[in-house]
Amino acid sequence: MESLYAYWSESKQQDLEAQLVGFWAEDIWHRTECPLAKDVDWRGKNGVIQGKKQIHFNCLSKSINTEIKYVLWKRLEQQEWSPITVWRHIHIHVRWIIEWMNAYAPDANSFMERSLEKWELSFRSYLAERGKLTIKQRQYLAEGEIRVTKKDDPKISTLRVIYRNLQETYDERPEYEKDLWDLRKLGASLVKSAREHHLNFTFIPQPWLRQATKSYIRYCLATQAGGTCRNKLKYINQFSAFLNQLAREIKPNDIDRPLIVEYLSYLAKSDFGASYKQSSIGALKEFLELCAREKWAEVKDKRLIYLSDYPKQSNHLPKYIPLHIIEQLNQHLDALPPYIMRMVLILQETGRRISEVCCLHWDCLRQDAQGDWFLLHYQFKMKQQESIPISQELAAVIQEQQEFVISQWGRGFPYLFPTPKPRGKGKPISSNHFNYALKKLAYEKHICDESGQIYQFHSHQFRHTVGTQMINNGVPIHIVQRYLGHKSLEMTLRYAHIHDQTLKEEFAKYQGKMVDISGKVVQPENVIVEMAEGSNPGNIDGQWMKQNILAQALPNGLCSLPVIQGACPYGANKCLNCTHFKTDIRYLDKHKEHLERTSNIVEWAQQNLNSRRSKEILKENQPVKENLERIIKSLEANYDA
Ligand code: SF4
Repeated sequence: MESLYAYWSESKQQDLEAQLVGFWAEDIWHRTECPLAKDVDWRGKNGVIQGKKQIHFNCLSKSINTEIKYVLWKRLEQQEWSPITVWRHIHIHVRWIIEWMNAYAPDANSFMERSLEKWELSFRSYLAERGKLTIKQRQYLAEGEIRVTKKDDPKISTLRVIYRNLQETYDERPEYEKDLWDLRKLGASLVKSAREHHLNFTFIPQPWLRQATKSYIRYCLATQAGGTCRNKLKYINQFSAFLNQLAREIKPNDIDRPLIVEYLSYLAKSDFGASYKQSSIGALKEFLELCAREKWAEVKDKRLIYLSDYPKQSNHLPKYIPLHIIEQLNQHLDALPPYIMRMVLILQETGRRISEVCCLHWDCLRQDAQGDWFLLHYQFKMKQQESIPISQELAAVIQEQQEFVISQWGRGFPYLFPTPKPRGKGKPISSNHFNYALKKLAYEKHICDESGQIYQFHSHQFRHTVGTQMINNGVPIHIVQRYLGHKSLEMTLRYAHIHDQTLKEEFAKYQGKMVDISGKVVQPENVIVEMAEGSNPGNIDGQWMKQNILAQALPNGLCSLPVIQGACPYGANKCLNCTHFKTDIRYLDKHKEHLERTSNIVEWAQQNLNSRRSKEILKENQPVKENLERIIKSLEANYDA
């Protein structure tokens, strides 16, 4: 990375100094006097107060002192670092940075005088000579095993943070002219739980390609989310890396079909999955076509990528979590931190996207006049607020989490799932944090698939599981689409493709079988289709599902009368003679009790056949008795099967 000294000026530096007033202007920062640390509890887990009391800024260069203080202040103010992080960890790094600067560059005016690489090299050697360069090993879980990777010295990381923050402060060019864009400054749509807010173009060494990529990403940012644009940049970086390893220099008009074929072969040899390769080729195609159309680079204005270039995705079906894995997971839920356990319960019941759960607002529960609960959430993909019906049990879980947040963060905290303390910065939890907790649980509790391998949990599988369950439970495809918030029916149809016989049987066992009054087994999907018959798919949403699917529940089963027909036309107590009546094993005891009562009535009526009333009673109850006998026989036979 080049030095940005050209953007530094003495007056800008004086401006930074002028912003440091009161506590922040001092050369010694006492943590007890820090205006941003008034409510901080400095005790560690063992109850003992931890961390340094003071941070000393004793650089020989006054202006370097100012720059370090400025970055620490800004990061504290913007909650990038918490006071605990600063006084417990960062102060050690700052002490070393100051000691090194005093020895190595006591007269420096600014960190911007040199490139980060030069500073880093010098600091690294300084620490190494003193035996203070610590390259730690970081353990992480992947593919069911613990892997180890090297973790750079945190003192070096702090130097990088200080440098990059100053670089952003001094460099006042419009964001689009820089090589590192801060998506927050560009007003890009970002998921609140996202931890990365930058687009870095410095990985593209070819000047023409870097410039054209910036134009492309700027174009995409106008209509697409920040995360999508980050992915597109990643794919162009990949293309840039390919060009870079070629023995010849490639100019824009050198990009022709043979070069693209060479790239396709390069991509094919990589370890990336088919889905990644598809997106990568798709982004490159879009980029090259836009380059030619918008004249961002002198790329040939002709077709370079064809449909047949995309690798086939052999089995692009949703990856639902098998029932036996869900059972193992639920057995060990207590071993998860309580907030992660509650997130799992929300995902299991609702199938929301993990970003939607991470960013749930503290006040996300609503109860309607009938006492039913709804979960309010924001769908980033659809850019809209949604509400879905949830069970009483899940509402209680969410209320428990609300209480937990109040106890930890006080009232008024905006999110239901904050990043946990002590590192918590008042932001929502990240999806990585959640995924890691589940992978750790699978590893520690030995949650295995059928082949004995540790199961690889990923948050999105819960969504696939809920979608699969809904399809297998017979919920019409357009309702599943609305419920899961799929933009197009294409995604929902993938769930329908896995609706094979084996799966149906698996879910039928789980669900129990439904029977009608003749004792005939009916498939749940047919029941739901019957209820939704004639309804306008456009009106079918969460409310519809609650009011029409759940509310047609009867004390002993379900009424499948098409919703569009309105209220029951047959009057009270006619269900056991009605073809719309459906029931399942859960109501077996009720049916047996009902049969006993009805049999007594029938018996009495048969013994008193001389009265008109008893004849009427017999006429009414005999069919009910026979239907109950058929229902019970069928339920028992099918339940045992
Ligand atoms: S009688 Fe038939 S239509 Fe009426 S509520 Fe019962 S099952 Fe539904």
